[in-house]
Amino acid sequence: MIMDIKKVGIVGAGQMGNGIAHVAAQTGLQVVLLDVKQEVLDSAVATITKNLDRQVSKGRLSEDDRNATLSNIATSVNYADFADCQLVIEAATENESIKEKIFASIEEAISADAIIATNTSSISVTRLASYTNRPEKFIGMHFMNPVPMMKLVELIKGLATSEETFVAINELSQKMGKVTAISEDMPGFTLNRILIPMLNEAIFVLDSGIADVKSIDTSLTLGAAHPMGPLTLADFIGLDTCLAIMNVLHSELGDDKYRPSPLLRKYVEAGWLGRKSGKGFYDYSGEKPVPTK
Ligand code: NAD
Repeated sequence: MIMDIKKVGIVGAGQMGNGIAHVAAQTGLQVVLLDVKQEVLDSAVATITKNLDRQVSKGRLSEDDRNATLSNIATSVNYADFADCQLVIEAATENESIKEKIFASIEEAISADAIIATNTSSISVTRLASYTNRPEKFIGMHFMNPVPMMKLVELIKGLATSEETFVAINELSQKMGKVTAISEDMPGFTLNRILIPMLNEAIFVLDSGIADVKSIDTSLTLGAAHPMGPLTLADFIGLDTCLAIMNVLHSELGDDKYRPSPLLRKYVEAGWLGRKSGKGFYDYSGEKPVPTK
């Protein structure tokens, strides 16, 4: 029998966590959104509210559905509030030791038959599963940013992930209005194995003076029909996340073609993380993004 998932815990209320909470709540699931500080949670709920209001103003959502969605979301800084969740989705910072500690806290709170999914962009699902006592009930559920708009969920089975777990999460993803693609558990899975090295290459092109920010983005939008340029996209994803993924590809595949651009590293060290920090390859403080280089 496929597990009936009605209540979902989400760890991490950043860009991804708040988007996952939004879509899960809009699907009618009960959501408990957890982060380290109440301020982060308050700001996540403010973002979800703003995004729902935009859907209402565009006529894509009724006022009643907006209110029902918000009433499905509870926030917490306490893992005990996950006690009756059938699924917990981990969407915290892309850092293996942080995730390992989070899994221990989740497992103290949830029942033995609950599933844990990770939204990691690049870390081995098999290795993350090994930190838990339920590798067969552990899976990669990789949403895209912004979650309410992007259709894809990449599903990644760890070595021990059971067919039952896969079927339950595949069904849930579809119920959430998403289309799933299945990837083997290899660094970067499918999408980021291809996408992030391309963004990294755009940063090398910028750093070596071949083209400026605007020319690089124009080349890929108008020359390759990409909906946004690679530097705009890198800012959107978060430069810290891009760097973390390149580091995983580089160290785990051992091929120098995956070395992160020194300029990417420099921006991250400066705290220029892209949209989320207000500055990256563009400055977002004005009405329109302005290239910083
Ligand atoms: P983010 O920096 O916006 O948010 C991360 C959140 O995790 C923050 O709110 C932070 O407070 C919280 N956090 C950190 N340590 C925590 C802890 N110990 N306990 C609870 N919460 C903690 O990052 P994001 O972009 O939302 O990325 C989250 C995850 O999703 C990462 O694994 C990332 O690789 C993955 N991901 C990101 C994207 C993207 O485009 N940004 C796309 C798909 C997947």
